[in-house]
Amino acid sequence: MTGGKRYLRVAAVGLALAALPAVSASAQDRDDRGLFTGGIGPFRLFGGPPAPPAPVSKDDWSGESGSSGHPMMQADAIRAAAANFGNCVAGYWPDAARRGVTRGTFETYTSALTPDLKIMDLMDAQPEFTKALWDYLDMLVSDARIKRGREILAANRATFDAVEKAYGVDRHVVAAIWGIESNYSTAIGERAVLRSVATLACVGRRQGYFKEEFLATLEILNRGDVAPAHLKGSWAGAFGPTQFMPTAFKRYAVDFDGDGRRDVVDSIPDLVASTANNLKVDGWKQGETWGYEVVVPQGFDYLLADSARPMTVREWEHRGLRRANGKAFPRPGDKAYLFVPAGARGPAFLMLNNFRVIMKYNPAEAYALAIGHLADRLRGDPPMVQAWPRDERVLTSAERYEFQQLLVGQGFDIGGEPNGRINARTRAALKRYQLAAGLTPDGFATAGLLERMRAGGIARR
Ligand code: CA
Repeated sequence: MTGGKRYLRVAAVGLALAALPAVSASAQDRDDRGLFTGGIGPFRLFGGPPAPPAPVSKDDWSGESGSSGHPMMQADAIRAAAANFGNCVAGYWPDAARRGVTRGTFETYTSALTPDLKIMDLMDAQPEFTKALWDYLDMLVSDARIKRGREILAANRATFDAVEKAYGVDRHVVAAIWGIESNYSTAIGERAVLRSVATLACVGRRQGYFKEEFLATLEILNRGDVAPAHLKGSWAGAFGPTQFMPTAFKRYAVDFDGDGRRDVVDSIPDLVASTANNLKVDGWKQGETWGYEVVVPQGFDYLLADSARPMTVREWEHRGLRRANGKAFPRPGDKAYLFVPAGARGPAFLMLNNFRVIMKYNPAEAYALAIGHLADRLRGDPPMVQAWPRDERVLTSAERYEFQQLLVGQGFDIGGEPNGRINARTRAALKRYQLAAGLTPDGFATAGLLERMRAGGIARR
């Protein structure tokens, strides 16, 4: 699996969801989840760094060290790497040549390249704004996005028919990815992909990973799949309406309109088919949905709500779960896990194989839920049945940090030092705290729980 594509896909949405499991949009969080598969780039020894350039606009690098604290993100290291940028890029020629990139292509696209150091600020940016899951879903699955998606499906019916037939992937999910990644092509980053990935391949803490993206971008340019001027995207190189990273393009893109080019930017057939192919290769099961909204019975054991504890739909039914719309579950033998993103007072979901496939596209449950729900709405399904606990406010970064400190202080292991991010390990610790305190162990960090923890400790049992 390639991690980078996913990582920028969330950044493209530009949100941080603090109260929610693992949906903060910061690059740091992506790292915590191990989504950079390329590892950290090699350390290099530099000569004396040049004087720092004075920032003149918001598009310029701040000149400050990154908040990750990584040695390669120190201001001096960034300056030194930037000073060596030309040598670094030129040093990739043998690798490019081995991939069939011609000397002419390499010269044409790299000889005048300069680093875009603003990316160093973006790479280490911490999320400042947080949204509750319900606000995130309201924003991404808006009436306007539903309406536009239905128009796009209707206007491209023949294409979606043919792609669905060829790949066996639900057209509504493909359209939902298009809608959420770029608001149906209307919100795509403006950075030149080659410059972004060259910068990241030569400066900063992920050079080894981005070397692959840089070389894959050169291959795209060498083949002429996408018009060079249209190879634009996010700061980490995700491009086109469904935000392919260059290596993901290499793996999944197809020429569906038969013109000899895999143009996921300007050809709707290529775009739709390539996105469907991505899901197919990642394990999409034809004819199945992503999951079901379910009602959980009183007195339910919320420790079962754990992505690592899947059971068959039949077993979940035996434990009292029902579909929220009152319909029967098809295929009771399907394996599913229970997802309760806003605690016992909010909706619950049984997640099937195809939900995990969507999460391979972008490994945040909030993202995958938005994709799944938008797909349902594009198909004509009604909104979710159960209400969200909208009276719960999102904890601030400082409160999340304090929450973790209090858990640790009372003997609950959060799997590391407090960092202000409520991840799966923190939620597991919170569940143990809730159990010990005689509360419903739903792992949902609320302001009320924080108050309670501040008021007094409980002994860990
Ligand atoms: Ca084509």
